[in-house]
Amino acid sequence: MTAIKEPSFRESVDLMFNRAASLMDLPPGLEEKIRVCNATYTVRFGVRLRGEIHTFTGYRSVHSEHMEPVKGGIRYALAVNQDEVEALAALMTYKCALVETPFGGSKGGLCIDPRQYEEHELEQITRRFAYELAKRDLINPSQNVPAPDMGTGEREMAWMADQYARMNTTDINARASVTGKPLNAGGISGRVEATGRGIQYALREFFRHPEDVQKAGLSGKLDGKRIIVQGLGNVGYHAAKFLSEEDGSRIVGIIEWDGALYNPDGIDVESVRQWIVKHGGVSNYPDATHSAEGGEVLEAECDILIPAALEGVINLSNAERIKAPLIIEAANGPVTAGADEILRKKGTVIIPDMYANAGGVTVSYFEWVKNLSHIRFGRMQRRQEEARHELIVSELERLDRYLGDAWSMTPDFKTKYLKGADELELVRSGLDDTMRIAYQSMREVWHSRDDVEDLRTAAYIVAIDRVSKSYRAKGL
Ligand code: NAD
Repeated sequence: MTAIKEPSFRESVDLMFNRAASLMDLPPGLEEKIRVCNATYTVRFGVRLRGEIHTFTGYRSVHSEHMEPVKGGIRYALAVNQDEVEALAALMTYKCALVETPFGGSKGGLCIDPRQYEEHELEQITRRFAYELAKRDLINPSQNVPAPDMGTGEREMAWMADQYARMNTTDINARASVTGKPLNAGGISGRVEATGRGIQYALREFFRHPEDVQKAGLSGKLDGKRIIVQGLGNVGYHAAKFLSEEDGSRIVGIIEWDGALYNPDGIDVESVRQWIVKHGGVSNYPDATHSAEGGEVLEAECDILIPAALEGVINLSNAERIKAPLIIEAANGPVTAGADEILRKKGTVIIPDMYANAGGVTVSYFEWVKNLSHIRFGRMQRRQEEARHELIVSELERLDRYLGDAWSMTPDFKTKYLKGADELELVRSGLDDTMRIAYQSMREVWHSRDDVEDLRTAAYIVAIDRVSKSYRAKGL
């Protein structure tokens, strides 16, 4: 018997795309045009560090320019390669189309282990990489706008945006060249938490549809659901924190690079995060069982599995043993195409990456708009809104006095109602709206077509349809 070969990440994305495209009626040749990556730039540059020149390799891939600027994160990891960057760029095209952010797809990466460098060295490397990209308009507010991804965060984004601004001193929109910046460098409230917050909103929306919940063999709401999360980095930490603190879910397992924690009674996410910050990993964390073999916990009993670290972690070797009836792909590409097929046959419901982790790009879109409009969201209307609410509250207070003991306002109603929305509230509201609408567009295809068995295929169909309409509007 010949062993079935595990497809690469890039092959997985193509296979999933092809599955959906074969169910659509696209004009001849358009399918191929949408699928292929337009261009990938490879750069090798030198930086003098510790008395010698170190050479680094970086990539920026542009998948589709049906809308510009193109958008996508920059990843710092040793495993970064052209295939991975191209797969991630393609996913960005479909993701942006699905959540209706007006961007084409792009992605970048630098082959580096950031933990091996001091902060000032990382700044030198990042600025040099940004210089190489900006020189070719691969960082540019109207053409290509990077954001954080694995191994990068606000700090790196601030360096990149500043590097662009130094090279384009008269560009009034320089701050819109990069998103995911810190607030004091033109960032937006709620960007750091955005992808994790999006996971929470996605799950809330899923649980608003009993028919869908039933497909996963589950019932009820998020309250009390047992969750296992892989990767307690930016995305995994925020998702696990919000779901446990605000929705009553129980985090029973946390998988990190140095093993996994398991406790059926629940694990305190904040305290594990603090432990990781202090000790570098989860080993020896006192309030849970530690197993050195993290992969075992991926296969443990739970209601919801949240892979939020790497791609390809659920593959042909373990898919059959995954017990979670519901998987939400917080990471990009955590389930290979082969595993996807096995899980589909088992009846596992997968909320696909293209939708699930779109919170990051959605709030990046808000940040880009903020940078282009040069004003904080809510600045014009907040006090006006409060003044109008004041009118209603004073009328209610009059009624309260008039009715005496028969009726009174709920104690904290006044404080809550009087408060006008600040930027963070507006960002969360925009993100919630985006996640709800995108889910509904996927589920409509999922439920209305007999030939669409899963949410991933539905997501691809919605995205490909929108990209193809864009191409047709351009006359292609
Ligand atoms: P991050 O670097 O902040 O966190 C990754 C976490 O995974 C770290 O805690 C790391 O220790 C852990 N990890 C590494 N190797 C592991 C292993 N073998 N097993 C278990 N855990 C391991 O990265 P992030 O920004 O949270 O990104 C995670 C995933 O989410 C990536 O796939 C990324 O592409 C995707 N994503 C991120 C964003 C964003 O806004 N940051 C947006 C969309 C998608």
